[in-house]
Amino acid sequence: MGSTSFGIPEHRFGSNGEKMPVLGFGTTVFPPVGAEATKMAILQLIKLGYRHFDTAAKYGSEQPLGEAIQEALSIGLIQSRDELFITTKLWCGDAHGDLVVPALKRSLQNLKLEYLDLFLIHWPVSCKPGTYEFPIKEENFLPMDFNSIWAAMEERQRLNLTKSIGVSNFSCKKLTDILAIANIPPAVNQVEMNPMWQQKKLREFCRANGIFLTAYSPLGANGTFWGSDRVLECEVLKEIAKAKGKTAAQVSLRWIYEQGVGVIVKSFNGERMKQNLGIFDWSLDEDELKKIDELAQSGGVTGVAYTSKCGPFRTVEDIWDGEM
Ligand code: NAP
Repeated sequence: MGSTSFGIPEHRFGSNGEKMPVLGFGTTVFPPVGAEATKMAILQLIKLGYRHFDTAAKYGSEQPLGEAIQEALSIGLIQSRDELFITTKLWCGDAHGDLVVPALKRSLQNLKLEYLDLFLIHWPVSCKPGTYEFPIKEENFLPMDFNSIWAAMEERQRLNLTKSIGVSNFSCKKLTDILAIANIPPAVNQVEMNPMWQQKKLREFCRANGIFLTAYSPLGANGTFWGSDRVLECEVLKEIAKAKGKTAAQVSLRWIYEQGVGVIVKSFNGERMKQNLGIFDWSLDEDELKKIDELAQSGGVTGVAYTSKCGPFRTVEDIWDGEM
């Protein structure tokens, strides 16, 4: 595995050997801080060495990310856009075969980029074309037509508008459905994963099928409306952290990395931005890994939150096919 000039290991995937820094920065910001603060935080992150940024049409962070990239280029923080790995996602209202192209072009325009590194289907459901409400109204849900959407995703990759394509929040069953029709298999599946929601079955499935898993809400999304403090307040993680002179957050991020999974973490706090980078020069020992492996699992924060608390999807089953 290679690494960025700041020492973040890079995962290689796809037929062209694309390189993804395994630690990426997430740009869903809660509570919202505004476009200027988001742009300034991203510039600070680039200065610190982050090179992989995760956004989505739905987050409202594509534009500030695009502006931050332009400024980083103009002040010489980076020499070329190619030094960055940029992911964005197709929202459910655009998850229709004929809307994929306009949606991707809109995202590229927001980001002021000519190509993406990775374009993901955000959730495995569609809603009424062109609707962007959140939560999604019951009457606006539609079944997803995997065939036409995945064909459009593949076409975008062939036209070099994105280097790779993938999915997010896909269960083993839904991945099986996509793999059955795909000419280009999904490079990535981005899902919630952390020590309290370890995704063992999905991890195994993705490894066996050459799909790189990336973990969102790696710290349990503490402080957001969809998350909780159960990762950062976990006694086992706190004990391991104390013994190693690290924080529970670093133990969680390091554990994910050691599972061969990518990490997308968010912090707009200068100290925590640095802290989250400090996970590559130490390791967890066998006993510590065993203790984490045995942690009681208590249901995905987002799977449950997005269904029960926020209700954009009718049931957890719609998304997870009984795999929660
Ligand atoms: P997260 O990264 O697990 O947690 C973020 C929260 O943890 C923030 O409130 C942050 O606060 C705090 N934090 C960060 N570093 C910390 C540290 N070292 N110590 C203590 N607290 C810390 O959750 P997330 O934002 O849900 O997930 C990360 C990214 O994944 C998102 O931004 C988004 O890009 C992506 N995501 C994708 C999906 C999807 O459906 N594909 C869903 C959810 C999220 P401060 O900012 O104050 O540090």
